[in-house]
Amino acid sequence: MERFDVVIIGAGLGGLLCGNILSKEGFRVCLIEKNHKLGGSLQTFGRKGCIFNTGLNYTESLEDGQVLNQYFRYFGVLDKLKLQRLDADGFEIIDFSDKQYRFAMGREHFIETLAREFPAEKNGLKSYCKRINDICRSISMYTFSEEQTNIIDNDSLNIGAADFIKSVISNNRLRNIIAGNNMLYAGSENKTPLYVHALINNSFIESAWRIADGSHNLVNILASNIISYGGTIIRNQKVSRLVMDKGKAGSAVLENGEYISGRNFIANIHPDLILDMVEPGTLRKTFCNRIRGLEDTMGMFTLYLVFKEGACPYANHNFYHFDQDNVWVASDYDSARWPQNYLYMHSAVSRSTENASCGSVITYMDFSEVKKWEHTYTGDRGEDYLAFKDAKANILLDAVGKQFPGIRDQIAAYYTSTPLTWRDYTGTRAGSAYGVLKDYNRPLESLVMPRTRIPNLYLTGQNINVHGILGVTISSFITCAELMDLPYLIRKVKAS
Ligand SMILES: Cc1cc2nc3c(=O)[nH]c(=O)nc-3n(C[C@H](O)[C@H](O)[C@H](O)COP(=O)(O)OP(=O)(O)OC[C@H]3O[C@@H](n4cnc5c(N)ncnc54)[C@H](O)[C@@H]3O)c2cc1C
Repeated sequence: MERFDVVIIGAGLGGLLCGNILSKEGFRVCLIEKNHKLGGSLQTFGRKGCIFNTGLNYTESLEDGQVLNQYFRYFGVLDKLKLQRLDADGFEIIDFSDKQYRFAMGREHFIETLAREFPAEKNGLKSYCKRINDICRSISMYTFSEEQTNIIDNDSLNIGAADFIKSVISNNRLRNIIAGNNMLYAGSENKTPLYVHALINNSFIESAWRIADGSHNLVNILASNIISYGGTIIRNQKVSRLVMDKGKAGSAVLENGEYISGRNFIANIHPDLILDMVEPGTLRKTFCNRIRGLEDTMGMFTLYLVFKEGACPYANHNFYHFDQDNVWVASDYDSARWPQNYLYMHSAVSRSTENASCGSVITYMDFSEVKKWEHTYTGDRGEDYLAFKDAKANILLDAVGKQFPGIRDQIAAYYTSTPLTWRDYTGTRAGSAYGVLKDYNRPLESLVMPRTRIPNLYLTGQNINVHGILGVTISSFITCAELMDLPYLIRKVKAS
């Protein structure tokens, strides 16, 4: 039987990036994906001429010299993707019904724009920007410094993002504005660590972009790289078991009964799913209990919109709306008042930047709302589920219609997804949007590291380190550094 150097379970962004790094370095890699489509949360789907992104709406720091630009160069994707920079004067609009505020791109511009509204807070804004930048700069995989070996900023692990913002900003409205895009990390006032907020906000303030024509373009480039480096990709086969061999993982068993043998294994899936893949007793009870006890981030309900031709001018920004002055609604939204917030944005299409052809609206949805259908599968959940989704779509459209009164007349068709859709497409527990929730009150328990109790089994993806394109990219290097030298990898990225 062929024995691979590394078998990777799951071809989400994390698996694809590890597959790229390792196969480029000469490892014989086999990537196994349960779905026909690769990409996990980066999958797109098409309806009525629209290509909808599911989990990559915009990305960050792609200007020359910025962090993701350097990574994208290394992966050979930068010159192959069609990137559209969002509005530098306001890439995020944070809306509180009575007033809108803008996140401008570039630290100085960001500070000046908000300081015009809150002049007394200018120093606070400077302190805020300095600290989140310092946190990023302390991570070796952000600065590509070979001297630094920090993979995470230890000093901010047990500081809450909301507490930190309060400590530098006095005005309550401004505190909420700064955290106004916290849907990007399902922000929880009493749990979200400062380092998660810092990594995301700092890199988006540097620059924010949309990938035109769909995130599957990124997936396709990464997958063809792996093949060109001699790697193997198996689609449409779920890994159901891991067979142990002398205390190590020996083979991944596919649903069709095939054994894929490997020297090392990387799991790009929730660590909880690993526990079900090994024989009971393989892993210590304390480890299993800790993993089972990890809390996950809130799931999302998404409304995908197809616009009538020429009916909706393209908006080159994201619109975050809140129906109250407190933006920290993720962990305990009031279902009677659903949706308490939403993110509305258009998809970038290279053929036109004048009118939007498609867009999406995203808001939180707790798994309890769809629990009664948890034993059903996508496409076969019954009429009552379809009626539930349609009712939710209409409530959400009514809410969006308050800020965009003409929206219903602009729409030709709409589609929806719930946390159940995410659970079935990506395998996340209870359809969580971003996997394991990092909690500054329990920094070490909620921080999942790439090493597991099985010596040749490693984890990667959004559940370790931080989620999102940048977070998962950094995670993939942290994981690969278990098999290779980190300074060597840093040098390779820097030289790209
Ligand atoms: C609604 C939403 C919007 C988002 N928007 C953005 C955004 O605008 N910008 C941004 O940077 N990030 C965004 N994200 C987050 C980002 O998409 C994710 O953090 C990232 O893509 C996760 O990648 P991953 O590889 O860790 O996991 P996943 O994408 O979940 O990949 C896991 C893969 O493993 C496969 N798998 C699972 N079990 C098995 C098995 N047993 N055998 C084989 N394969 C298996 C799955 O099918 C999947 O392909 C968004 C997320 C959501 C939910």
